[in-house]
Amino acid sequence: MYNPKSLKAEEFISHGEILDTLAYAQENKENLALISEILNTAKKGKGLTHREASVLLACENQQVLDEIYALAEKIKKDYYGSRIVMFAPLYLSNYCINGCVYCPYHRGNDGVVRKKLTQEEIRQQVIALQDMGHKRLALEAGEDPLHNPIEYILESIKTIYGIQHKNGAIRRVNVNIAATTVENYRKLKEAGIGTYILFQETYHKESYEQLHPTGPKSNYAYHTEAMDRAMEGGIDDVGLGVLFGLERYAYEFAGLLMHAEHLEAVHGVGPHTISVPRIKRAEGIDPGAFSNGIDDDTFAKICALIRIAVPYTGMIISTRESKAVRERVLRLGVSQISGGSRTTVGGYDTPLPEDDGSAQFDVSDQRSLDEVVRWLMELGYIPSFCTACYREGRTGDRFMSLCKSGQIQNCCHPNALMTLKEYLEDYAAPETKAIGEKLIAEQMLEIPSEKVRSIAQAHLQKIENGSRDFRF
Ligand code: SAM
Repeated sequence: MYNPKSLKAEEFISHGEILDTLAYAQENKENLALISEILNTAKKGKGLTHREASVLLACENQQVLDEIYALAEKIKKDYYGSRIVMFAPLYLSNYCINGCVYCPYHRGNDGVVRKKLTQEEIRQQVIALQDMGHKRLALEAGEDPLHNPIEYILESIKTIYGIQHKNGAIRRVNVNIAATTVENYRKLKEAGIGTYILFQETYHKESYEQLHPTGPKSNYAYHTEAMDRAMEGGIDDVGLGVLFGLERYAYEFAGLLMHAEHLEAVHGVGPHTISVPRIKRAEGIDPGAFSNGIDDDTFAKICALIRIAVPYTGMIISTRESKAVRERVLRLGVSQISGGSRTTVGGYDTPLPEDDGSAQFDVSDQRSLDEVVRWLMELGYIPSFCTACYREGRTGDRFMSLCKSGQIQNCCHPNALMTLKEYLEDYAAPETKAIGEKLIAEQMLEIPSEKVRSIAQAHLQKIENGSRDFRF
């Protein structure tokens, strides 16, 4: 029985409700009267239900598609302006006792080189990340109670927050580790994590059980109910995601939105972020072996519809995707991207080739953080290194209510500019710095303060006259 308020996985992600939704979407995919009604609801910028969004996903009418893309772009602009939040993953350990068939970390994979960073190695990695200019990390680890117990994760977080290096510090540590207990989530909260991220992989229970044949992760209910335990443990920013390619995408899309509706119904706050990974080649893993892979057009449509369906939820794209795909989905809704990523355990401070045998997946976008920052600015975006919300306690429902009232712009925009300025001064290459300084001054002209505007005008004049002195 479908019940979004239930705490049981099979009731809030009801297989029956998903099948009914998919049937409803197929029946109505050419019902232009209904589609126009749904688009009108979407234009209010308050989101869509999983049923409404699924109808749009099934619709193949080019005119409707164009409207979907235009609306996604508008909502993206209205809620996120031109800011793009920057982060990098840090792989702590690839020891894992699970049997996930798509993941190179799976227990039976003898081809993968197993590694676990010591606290000293973490220090070196983090210093290398700080030297690039990163302020926000996503910690990644396999599930292994012997090698990677919660104490190891907690100690690593403490090490990371404790590192002060030149002008840098990591100010927000997000964590992507396996589903765990309320007590462990409480410990993660106390350690000061930002978002707890856990990908569902697939919402389809039967497929989930086939894809996760062994290990603790094979328990579908325990995995699917993890976000409720995380919330119970006091973590109010959680990040959802599915691994596209494992199941039919329309099924996953409906499941993902039902999960978001469930969190909102039970905890009064939806997911902080949604990630949209696609399966990639990795040691012993051939994406071609999974028959539900999606092409770039379908991927873009999914991103646009997530943006429309859950306007307040940040959307994350990793370096699994190429520069071209990232550019396309940034416009349609993505608000956070990684840059200069290494998916190897300990890949940041050593001149190792990308694949030393410990990588989780092949990185498509191999550019450095500075190249990504410059590229974003050339596209008109403001790369943001801001982490203020989390330190100011603007998390969970407090963040969401600021977001829903549109107030968040007043915090995010100036903070994005200031943290970009900090990046440019401390880390940027000269060319990046020149582009960024001009962009910041232009953005400052938009701020409704005479004083700020006159500083910006003087600054722009200086740049126009060929000055390389970018101090205000
Ligand atoms: N062990 C934790 C867990 O079980 O959730 C952390 C997960 S892992 C470090 C991060 C994510 O990478 C996984 O949740 C999965 O979706 C994704 N992943 C695994 N294999 C992949 C592959 N071959 N290509 C792309 N992404 C993959």
